[in-house]
Amino acid sequence: TPLVGVLALQGDVREHLAALAAVGAQARPVRRPEELAEVEGLVIPGGESTTMSKLAVIFGLLEPLRERIRAGMPVYGTCAGMIMLADKIIDGRDDQETLGGIDMIVRRNAFGRQNESFEAAVDIKGIDGGPVEGVFIRAPWVESVGAGAEVLATYGDHTVAVRQANVLATSFHPELTGDHRVHALFVDMVGAAR
Ligand code: GLN
Repeated sequence: TPLVGVLALQGDVREHLAALAAVGAQARPVRRPEELAEVEGLVIPGGESTTMSKLAVIFGLLEPLRERIRAGMPVYGTCAGMIMLADKIIDGRDDQETLGGIDMIVRRNAFGRQNESFEAAVDIKGIDGGPVEGVFIRAPWVESVGAGAEVLATYGDHTVAVRQANVLATSFHPELTGDHRVHALFVDMVGAAR
């Protein structure tokens, strides 16, 4: 059983722990570098990326996280987590750090102004059985991706799911629905990386 952590600095940690457990992973919160060292994969939840970035610095997790991602640990970020995994962000705060991992530019709060929050069916490459219900909450979109990153889903004209090697990111929140297919895909990535 893969041991998968959920970065528990801030955000919807509990929902991700439940979704991971539902697809057969052993799931636990990660707050300290020692806890990070033990897990085989990591979910970065939705929440507020500016706060998460600050807390990652305070908790001494920024560099250890970057190192594990570079070393190939599978990581999955939802919404604020997607922002954390972007090599570059637009409309971030001046002092906002990201972990990087995906060669993409992500626009924070991109869907936000017109429509704070909405749901839409999203087809995801690599996920069978029809579209997933995408829950978008002050969600980012992916402005552009580099050559190494693969677009897995779009909504309208905008990219909302991307994968680059060991790193997966979605603008939306599968952990808030009862449909755990994206978490199952991620746990398969963790298994494959063993
Ligand atoms: N808008 C938030 C941010 O910038 C993300 C929102 C979310 O995670 N639901 O971090």
